[in-house]
Amino acid sequence: MAQPGSKDADETRDDARGSDALAHALRRLEGEFLRPYRVTLWLCLLGLLAQSALMLPGPLIQGWLLDRLVALGRIAKSGGGGLAFTPAAAGSAYRALAAATAGLVACQVLRSLLSWAVASTTGRVSQEVVVALRSALQRKLMRLPMAYFDSHQTGRIMARVTSDVGGILSFVNSGLLQLLNDLLLGVGIAFLLVWLEWRLALIALVAVPLYALNQALFAARIRRTSQAIRAQVSAIYALLSERVSAVRIVRAYAQEDAEVATLVGRVDRHRELNMRNIRSGAALNALATMISGLGTVAVLGLGVLLVTRGALTVGSLLAFYALIGQLYGPIVRLTQFQATAQATCISVERLFEILDEPEPIADSPSAIALEDRPEGSLRFDGVSFRYGPDWPLVLEEISAAIAPGQTVGIVGASGAGKSTLLAVAARLYDLEPGEGSIALDGRDIRDIRLDDLRRNVVLVPQQAIAFQGTIRSNLAYARPDATDEELWRAAELAQLAETIRAMPAGMDSPVDERGGSLSGGQRQRLALARAILADPAVLLLDDCTSALDAETEARIQDALQEALPGRTRLIVSHKMSSVRSADKILVLDAGRIVESGTHDELMRMAGHYAAQFEAQGARAEAEHA
Ligand code: ADP
Repeated sequence: MAQPGSKDADETRDDARGSDALAHALRRLEGEFLRPYRVTLWLCLLGLLAQSALMLPGPLIQGWLLDRLVALGRIAKSGGGGLAFTPAAAGSAYRALAAATAGLVACQVLRSLLSWAVASTTGRVSQEVVVALRSALQRKLMRLPMAYFDSHQTGRIMARVTSDVGGILSFVNSGLLQLLNDLLLGVGIAFLLVWLEWRLALIALVAVPLYALNQALFAARIRRTSQAIRAQVSAIYALLSERVSAVRIVRAYAQEDAEVATLVGRVDRHRELNMRNIRSGAALNALATMISGLGTVAVLGLGVLLVTRGALTVGSLLAFYALIGQLYGPIVRLTQFQATAQATCISVERLFEILDEPEPIADSPSAIALEDRPEGSLRFDGVSFRYGPDWPLVLEEISAAIAPGQTVGIVGASGAGKSTLLAVAARLYDLEPGEGSIALDGRDIRDIRLDDLRRNVVLVPQQAIAFQGTIRSNLAYARPDATDEELWRAAELAQLAETIRAMPAGMDSPVDERGGSLSGGQRQRLALARAILADPAVLLLDDCTSALDAETEARIQDALQEALPGRTRLIVSHKMSSVRSADKILVLDAGRIVESGTHDELMRMAGHYAAQFEAQGARAEAEHA
């Protein structure tokens, strides 16, 4: 991604890669996504070539017909220089016309059929390739480590899945085959021209190197701008997706105008870059047209000279003229292709950038499958963790043993590392080698198949997420095969059943994206019900009842205790009251466990926990009073 500060570095890198980049990108696209269509694409190329080759007889037939007419007729004395024919000659002329017409029509019909077949086939292939690309991206995104999402904006990722894939679509659809076709067609026409009259061909073909020069002058410029445009599109997506998600905050601080101004700024920059490319493209085309125009005029001059000397027939001159028109077509397209190819090349590179991301969290070859439900003991052994190589430690030497079925409360100041502890326990982040280990039923969680681990250790995050759909689809997300009865039971346990019954369509009431129609507390209970439905051996609750009142929270805790006996629970909470009855409470401070024990033990210690409990107790009393 072009960072403002790294522009120079980017351009150097860009130039160093040069034209190899396209070949490399294409090879990868071909190797990984076009392989199944190899035969089809070759057939399409043959079809395109045949279609182009069928353009060539036209000028020759017309030239031949003209020469026949000239040979058969005589210049008429009246009628402005037209030809006069004897009846016999007229008969021959009609027969020549019939033959020429039949040839021209046959070529045209065949071309139309081929064009239809090729267009519909490449269209189908490109759609299928896009589906394959999008699903590969989707699969990859689902497997990438959380750290990837911490460091990449959602909008930029979305831009790749939408606009970059779109660019590749049009390239596969029309660009790729057209390129090969144009190259071969150009060579074919050149041969034909030389065969017809080499002196004329020499003049006509002088234009080709001029074309190449013209192209070289503009290509690098267009390529660089294209890259900047892509980066800008990503930036716009990123800004939009962030601000649309945070529209409440934007409104709350009356920042609408400022946001619009920021967006307009970026859109303006995007427009400027686009204009730069449009200007380059326009200049390139203007020069190309001028070169072709001058070439054609030169051919006309020499052609007429050759005709007057009897070295060339009028028909051949006509054929030559028409063929030149067809020669410039592919060359102009080739110059334009350069721009598309550059853009595609960048898109392909950016897609592979995602597809090539390493997937550190993956099953080791020796990963064990969990056949039965684990008992649910958890053991943290000297666990240290940081979010990135140069980041400070967030967890330091955490050791704790949690017996199956225990409820463990985790408390501590904000930023102490509570959420991080749960995230590493759920293996959303992997521990670095030598930074301790976490074991489920005595087995390192890195040695357990990830699918099995995720089924048995479920994290309910702080921010409750609801998907677009219905209450039912949101609950069943955890277990698509759940029966109605099971859905209701989970809702009941999460104290959500009343709410669902009160909704107009019950279980089938719609929930919109981001759960906008639900209150914060309802969304939290929905997330909790989803986790209950998954029925894991270990439930990690990350302050997921923060929006609920103490009474509802207590009811949920009791219900869970009763309905899910023997499940291990780790409960992070900022409310001391939520963990008071836990079997064990861990007090975290700056990434370390500073106290641990039952509520009573901790109160007797009169340390962090006791102080915090007193403070919250005093506050609660004050609120009650
Ligand atoms: P708690 O849950 O106790 O409030 P967290 O575990 O959320 O604490 O955070 C502990 C520390 O880790 C904080 O300093 C926080 O800034 C940092 N942190 C949390 N998440 C990330 C992340 N995704 N990337 C980088 N740092 C993070």
